[in-house]
Amino acid sequence: MIRGFLQRCPSCGKGRLFRSYLKQVDACADCGEAFADIRADDGPAWLTVMVTGHVVVALMMMVESLLTMPLWASIAAFSAISGAMVLGLLQRAKGIFIGLIWHTKASEAISAPAN
Ligand SMILES: [Zn+2]
Repeated sequence: MIRGFLQRCPSCGKGRLFRSYLKQVDACADCGEAFADIRADDGPAWLTVMVTGHVVVALMMMVESLLTMPLWASIAAFSAISGAMVLGLLQRAKGIFIGLIWHTKASEAISAPAN
């Protein structure tokens, strides 16, 4: 999960995990570990919204209790902070989920035939 957060291959920690912002590589360029079958689905978005929401709401309550901001300034500032956090966290959250799914072999359990 830590290697995924750092956008590196969960197996070797050297190869890149993403070929673009949210598309993982089919296989690690260094060790050849396959990631094409791993699907993180909505997990990264859920984690990103959960973390961003808690941080931004707490920050908003702290700032609003200390100083009085015009509504337009508050909306602009906290929207910008939220957007920056989402862009900064989403790829790392996907890396965490890919690392977790790879470690637990959950993608193999889903694709295996039921008995
Ligand atoms: Zn690797």
